[in-house]
Amino acid sequence: MTTRKYKELVEQRTRQTLQQWSSQEFVGEREIYRFLHNLKGTAGTVGLDKVEKQADRTQLYFSEDFQRSWTETEWGDYLYPLLELFGEEQGSLEAQQSRLPAGAAKEPGMLSQHEILIIDDDVELVAFLRESMEKQSYYVSIALSAERGLKLFYESRPDLILLDILLPDQSGIDVLKQIIGKAKKERIPIIIVSGEHSKNIQMYAYSLGVMDYMPKPLDIDLFLVLIRNRFELKREWQESVIVDELTGAFNRKYFNQTMKQLVSDFRRTGRIFSLALMDLDHFKLVNDTYGHLIGDEVLQTFSEVVRHSIRAEDTFCRFGGEEFALFMPNTDADSALLGVERIQQQLAAKSFAAKKELFQVTFSGGITVVREELNEPDSLIGEADQALYASKDSGRNRTTLYTEQLDTGKAESLLNVIVVDDDALIRRIVTRHFAAWEPAGIDGVKASSYASGPLFLESDWYAQGNKYIILLDGAMPELDGLEVLKRIRSSCPEENVLVIMLTGRNDQRDIIHALQMGADDYVVKPFHLPELMTRMERLAHRFLF
Ligand code: GH3
Ligand code: MG
Ligand code: MG
Repeated sequence: MTTRKYKELVEQRTRQTLQQWSSQEFVGEREIYRFLHNLKGTAGTVGLDKVEKQADRTQLYFSEDFQRSWTETEWGDYLYPLLELFGEEQGSLEAQQSRLPAGAAKEPGMLSQHEILIIDDDVELVAFLRESMEKQSYYVSIALSAERGLKLFYESRPDLILLDILLPDQSGIDVLKQIIGKAKKERIPIIIVSGEHSKNIQMYAYSLGVMDYMPKPLDIDLFLVLIRNRFELKREWQESVIVDELTGAFNRKYFNQTMKQLVSDFRRTGRIFSLALMDLDHFKLVNDTYGHLIGDEVLQTFSEVVRHSIRAEDTFCRFGGEEFALFMPNTDADSALLGVERIQQQLAAKSFAAKKELFQVTFSGGITVVREELNEPDSLIGEADQALYASKDSGRNRTTLYTEQLDTGKAESLLNVIVVDDDALIRRIVTRHFAAWEPAGIDGVKASSYASGPLFLESDWYAQGNKYIILLDGAMPELDGLEVLKRIRSSCPEENVLVIMLTGRNDQRDIIHALQMGADDYVVKPFHLPELMTRMERLAHRFLF
């Protein structure tokens, strides 16, 4: 989409809002204030300069704190003049378009690994930013509310966060307080993007530790350079780091180095080592019940327990979110098993306190030992992982030694891709394409399609414990995509079913609704298949944590 498109969308939304208000007896002052506040930020960013200035001036007449109700005759004088300004802006369109970076576009399929999480409820602005940033090969995930932002912060593991101050459910400052500690530790830059410019709030945000405070309206060129700069900084930080700051364990990078070193020692000298993988049991439940901060404390305590229990020559690493690895040089399988079981007992002796309750945490383990015929790092990890899976499968809180018999024991991790769209061509393209898809870490993909919402809902599509990505057409004749989404969300566990909405170019409102109702992502039709693939890969990745 060009900036023209976004200008039209802003105009369209403004008209819709005023039209709706004109059918109401009263409009609350706070609502008007927020409307102007958002309009100001978005208009300036997409190049509607006159609208921005006017919204800014008009906003002075309203206060966020007043309870007063306004009739149309009252608010009309202030707000209707805005509509005339949209027409005047069109003349300078050509000049505005050059604000977009030229030649920066890359192939959609080449989106890099950098993920940016935008927590902002202004959907036009967010869509505009997403498009601008994806032209620079960043992957963008979106949260329109604080609650969703917090969830994605933990589950999607972004590399950079853009945070708005004024959010529907909590203030951005509250969100900041909840994530800044961890973001600093994991070296995730946070940039505040806000229409709230007061010196006090900026000082406060900086004092809490945000990296940058960017006032809306944004100059997109400047903003993109800033973002690149921050990623560069992050990369430099990361290169020098080998310890995971949250847990004090070594990080994944150090895990890889250690693995290489030990395998090469083994080849040279025959010195064996054992590898244990440990994964906390039902950790999602801990987060869901007590909150992510308590979850973090659990990770820290677990790590302390392990580090106190192991020998100096052992190496303990954080492998992924709540998965850890332990290298034990000069240790055979039986001794390794004793060691890990001792850690299990020590962890079981700990109580955690939250919400006036005490609770216990356990983990499951899997162990394998390096051997002549098998010295590739990946196969070692695979074996330990299979043994770990066997522990999970047989009840958790136990540790299993890898044996060849386990090879057949691990259930395949299958991913179901379902497309629900009345357009037969889309159904055909998508199912054919995804049947042959092999995302990393997933053993197989099963693709199927339905021509309407009712056909889909009435089918027995959901089987407990399986993983699904559903591509859902927003506009279908029989039953609207949003309605289908609502039913999916009310009947299946969210963590097993991810939904991508397919929306038309002009259905910006549908995007808002879809994201608000819990869609995980959206793609605008007509879409490029590579873009869809990238988004699918990202979502599939979420299942692997
Ligand atoms: P299982 O016993 O099968 O392992 O169940 P589980 O709930 O532990 O498994 P799953 O892998 O599905 O969930 C892991 C959760 O860990 C999901 C993610 O939100 C959470 N997580 C990952 N990293 C962090 C972190 O740094 N802090 C917190 N609080 N949670 C994290
Ligand atoms: Mg787990
Ligand atoms: Mg896990």
